[in-house]
Amino acid sequence: MVVGAGIVGVAAAYYLARAGKRVVVVDRAGIAGEASGRNGGHLSPTIDGAWAPLGQLALDIWPRLIPDIDGPTEYRRGGGLYVVVDHDPMEPADILAYRHARGFVAELLSPEECRRRLPPLRSEIKGGVLSPRHGQVNPILTTKSLAQTAERHFGVKFLLYSPVTSVSVENDAVHGVRVGSGAIGAPTVVLAAGAWTGQLAATAGVACPIGPRRIQILLSEAMPPWTDVVWAGNGVYARQSLSGHLHFGSGGPAWERTLAEVSYTVAPGGMQRTARRMCDFMPGLRDVAILRSWAGVIGPSADGVPVLEACAEPRGLIIASGFGGNGFVTGPAVGQVVAELATAGRASVDLSGLSLARFTASPSGVGA
Ligand SMILES: Cc1cc2nc3c(=O)[nH]c(=O)nc-3n(C[C@H](O)[C@H](O)[C@H](O)COP(=O)(O)OP(=O)(O)OC[C@H]3O[C@@H](n4cnc5c(N)ncnc54)[C@H](O)[C@@H]3O)c2cc1C
Repeated sequence: MVVGAGIVGVAAAYYLARAGKRVVVVDRAGIAGEASGRNGGHLSPTIDGAWAPLGQLALDIWPRLIPDIDGPTEYRRGGGLYVVVDHDPMEPADILAYRHARGFVAELLSPEECRRRLPPLRSEIKGGVLSPRHGQVNPILTTKSLAQTAERHFGVKFLLYSPVTSVSVENDAVHGVRVGSGAIGAPTVVLAAGAWTGQLAATAGVACPIGPRRIQILLSEAMPPWTDVVWAGNGVYARQSLSGHLHFGSGGPAWERTLAEVSYTVAPGGMQRTARRMCDFMPGLRDVAILRSWAGVIGPSADGVPVLEACAEPRGLIIASGFGGNGFVTGPAVGQVVAELATAGRASVDLSGLSLARFTASPSGVGA
């Protein structure tokens, strides 16, 4: 049983079913109703610390997965360009060295090469770093098409508009979940409920520090297509979809909220800040109109690193969550790892930095 029909839950179901498991996905709403349907669609993984093995696997998996998906995705692998503006404290060569040291493919671009790829760019830049394996998708279409593939070709069942209220545990082992006033039995439960995962894990007696955070995206009017690179710099990130619309957002200050206070209202201040940063970064886009914007809720963990583990107690509980603002790209990699944990009991990538033990371990490394 997989709780959550975002990219992580859908990908987990797909790989579990491909491995021969009978899988049911339960969601309180529809497919891709939360962050997986509201994000920027960048396939540019975080490569810091314990994220790196998942980032590598993600970049390997997308080109293999896309041909197997029965339905539209709008996938393109046009590369990802980080542009270093003149007042950025980082140097392009240092960013390149960092990426190479972590085993990622990247190359330096001169300021002229950056402007050739992105003509609206400002002229005051130091250069850029191109990651040719990065890309983009339409995240809603991709999640729905993957779900359709899992259902049609591998027999995954979807139980939608059915909120899970708790995980059932007996004798230190998972027994299934409670959905409304009923119960569904399952020997393995995967919690892929995004920002709501901590709440559900608590019902199984597992402390999982994951909380909600609201971030937002702006959508421009359609322009004639001029790039298939996804790019970032000056505190903004952007891509141009196949329809010609620019999708862009910025890091900006986060809104900390409790689950009870989760809001999807777009904050005008954040929207103005993103638009100003974009105009400063790409003066050639100043006259492009913004059509609309929307907000979504991500679920980062307390230290910003994902939680991906098969719990020792209760047995049968797998947690796959805490992905924050860059978790769409790693979704299929996480799905594959979940299937490995459920079928073989171990993963093909290093998960040592992703377990819940890090939140309780003392600085000496001895469990508190
Ligand atoms: C504005 C924005 C821009 C972003 N840009 C990018 C980007 O460009 N690239 C990138 O890689 N990532 C990006 N992200 C992050 C990315 O969207 C998320 O990390 C990723 O989608 C998380 O997927 P998920 O499956 O873990 O969670 P979600 O997509 O949030 O899915 C969780 C699911 O669990 C369900 N659920 C919750 N509680 C229950 C319950 N009690 N019972 C049943 N079901 C339940 C929800 O209904 C939901 O469908 C962005 C996010 C936002 C909001």
